[in-house]
Amino acid sequence: MENRRLVMIPGPTPVIDSIQKQMGRPTAAFGDPDFVKDYKEVIADLKEMWGTEGEVFVIAGSGTIAMEMAIANTTKKGDNVLIISHGYFGDRFIDLCERKGIHVDVLSSEWGKIVPVSEIEKKLSEKTYQALTVTHVDTATGVCAPIEEIGKAVAKFEETLYIVDGVCATAAIPESVDKMGIDVLLTGSQKAFGVPPGLAIVWAGPKAMERRGVLGTIPEFYADFDKWLPIMNNPALYFATPAVNLVWAMKEAIRIIKEEGLENRYARHIKVAKAMQSALETIGLKVLAEPDCRAVTLSNLIYPKGLDDAEFRNIMLKEGVVVAGGLGPYKGKMFRLGHMGNTDTHELVAVMAAIERTLYKMGVNIELGKGVGVLQKGLLE
Ligand code: PMP
Repeated sequence: MENRRLVMIPGPTPVIDSIQKQMGRPTAAFGDPDFVKDYKEVIADLKEMWGTEGEVFVIAGSGTIAMEMAIANTTKKGDNVLIISHGYFGDRFIDLCERKGIHVDVLSSEWGKIVPVSEIEKKLSEKTYQALTVTHVDTATGVCAPIEEIGKAVAKFEETLYIVDGVCATAAIPESVDKMGIDVLLTGSQKAFGVPPGLAIVWAGPKAMERRGVLGTIPEFYADFDKWLPIMNNPALYFATPAVNLVWAMKEAIRIIKEEGLENRYARHIKVAKAMQSALETIGLKVLAEPDCRAVTLSNLIYPKGLDDAEFRNIMLKEGVVVAGGLGPYKGKMFRLGHMGNTDTHELVAVMAAIERTLYKMGVNIELGKGVGVLQKGLLE
């Protein structure tokens, strides 16, 4: 008999039944008064829970359109943007900006490490940047950026807007838009919210909205804040068709987050990551990100010498667990495991046991149950 397939990649994450049910509801007309009320509630909750005096945009699209929206509404051709990159997704801003004729400077870290905040501050003082981008958790490296400290450095430069990519962090790691000095926070539905892929979410603080105003007409159409703002203020209006069932799924995800409490949710992610990472290290895997900048939403694990990536992931699949491969310089050398959102104890224990069985089948000298024991102890603390 085949094992059921658990998807434990760093997004999309497991979707729990009550959220899945919203995806299966008969789709309503986007002007349906009940749907309009639900959309309104989602927008209001996201604004309140992430603490901004500005605006929130919830539209159909993946995280990448949210990145595009952030840049398109705050910068123009000829502007300077400073990109802080801790991996593949940090680098994504380079092409995105250059296509728009924006001059970019990039501060990159070696994979697994962070760019020191002092270096960022020094670079900001060299010329005027209209915006700075940073990826809160780079999914390619599992590195978590110190967004609050970076925010303090950016705050010293009046002209520079602070853009944070929260795709692999939002709803799992604290991100208070106004309090942390973030001007634009962008994210997607498919990671720590535990909603299927397809919703892009962007928070824009007052300074970012002011900048949008100064820019006038921008080349982008679908990504324009000005096109969406009337709809966010009154979802009964139409600009482009909302993803009706995804909005319902997000409403249920927010209900679950409120029930758990945001602070408890953040604490749970820390506990799970600590337990999972020490269990994985116990059985001989190495976490790529250094301990002082290690994300709690996923773990990127370097194989012991001689272990074949394709074989590992194929056996894992037969054991019933899907994990993701490494990217860039770590392709074939690493696998990536998500442990964020509404991932529960059953799934965590099952994935750990599947990793042990896989390594055992590959001839690694491993004591079955050792990692599972460490994980369970950590989860019970
Ligand atoms: N930023 C980060 C940190 C991501 O992890 C991803 C997707 N893995 C993206 C941006 C792009 O999001 P999407 O694939 O939903 O377009």
